[in-house]
Amino acid sequence: MKFIADVMLGKLARFLRMIGQDVIYFADADDDFIIYSAKETRRILLTRDVRLYQSARLLGIPAVLVCSNHVKEQLKEVIEATKLVPEKAKRCIVCNAPLKSVERCEIEGLVPEFVWMRNSEFWICEGCGKVYWRGSHIKNFIKFLGFDPWEK
Ligand SMILES: [Zn+2]
Repeated sequence: MKFIADVMLGKLARFLRMIGQDVIYFADADDDFIIYSAKETRRILLTRDVRLYQSARLLGIPAVLVCSNHVKEQLKEVIEATKLVPEKAKRCIVCNAPLKSVERCEIEGLVPEFVWMRNSEFWICEGCGKVYWRGSHIKNFIKFLGFDPWEK
């Protein structure tokens, strides 16, 4: 699913990218700009701001009013409200650009040696160049959340 997160939801944006969602987020943007972008790019607005939520709804922009202060609960709220199906991450958690699968030999030297030695599947972000591999960060994410978002 495609989302736009308001300035208060940067952490939630990263968490949604972890579960394969396309989320744009601006650390500073005014409400008009967020509304304009949501409409132009046909995204669901995620906001903690009741006024922004109401303006979006008046304009026919789909929106979710996020109530919790805690990112774990926020993620649950969004999953419930939109019925989204968590997917494996295909987007960069940092910049939201698509990830491209790369051969192991192509990223030698770009990741710590023990990571390079122990893994066979790697992806690289087409935007910022961050390298990803299947690894402990997924386990840590699940542990932090206290639930497995990929579990049916
Ligand atoms: Zn990136």
